[in-house]
Amino acid sequence: MSLQLTDITLTYPDGDARLTALDRVSLDVPKGSLTAVVGPSGSGKSTLAWIMAGLTTPTTGSCLVGGRPSHECVGEVAVAFQAARLQLLRARVDLEIASAAGFPPSDIRRVVAALAAVGLDGSLARRRVDQLSGGQMRRVVIAGLLARRPKALILDEPLAGLDADSQRGLLRLLTDLRRNTGLTIVVISHDFVGLEELCPRTLHLNRGVLS
Ligand code: ADP
Repeated sequence: MSLQLTDITLTYPDGDARLTALDRVSLDVPKGSLTAVVGPSGSGKSTLAWIMAGLTTPTTGSCLVGGRPSHECVGEVAVAFQAARLQLLRARVDLEIASAAGFPPSDIRRVVAALAAVGLDGSLARRRVDQLSGGQMRRVVIAGLLARRPKALILDEPLAGLDADSQRGLLRLLTDLRRNTGLTIVVISHDFVGLEELCPRTLHLNRGVLS
């Protein structure tokens, strides 16, 4: 599903004034594409992610998901937040995935399939979430999100805190997901390193202005 952002401005209250977090941002994300949005801290990346997911409505402008305003179809654009541990709400992997995906945890076949979709072994199903590595936590979050069949997936700083091998592995997973499932993916990062080969299309956000 495509995302179409047109002339989006978002301001936050800032004392007696307003702080412009996004300044007339326009962006087309075609269906099945992989796009990187790179910018320094405070440039508006997370705000952009929230708008795309329909969790925040822009002050002016529009964000359409498959032609519908994003805030009217919350859930269709999934977001993997930077702090994967905070997005994992259950004690065990199978419980987490089943809960995130909306099926009973007794359906081990679907748990194993969800794990396989993100390159994790089915034997992890019974593992306690606290015993996962950082890279595994990221993948379990993605597994739960994907099991709900979102139209698009946004990843906020997916490489943060991972060692080089896990970073490469996760980037490979995203490339494969896009190729094999046609999922629309947007990666948001303050750091371009590692993304350049993955994302033919990289956009830069600076002080709320996209270029
Ligand atoms: P990034 O993800 O690139 O670090 P953000 O989208 O989080 O950028 O923030 C963009 C700007 O908006 C920053 O100046 C930040 O301080 C400000 N901001 C973010 N969220 C809020 C909020 N809820 N209220 C007020 N200001 C905010």
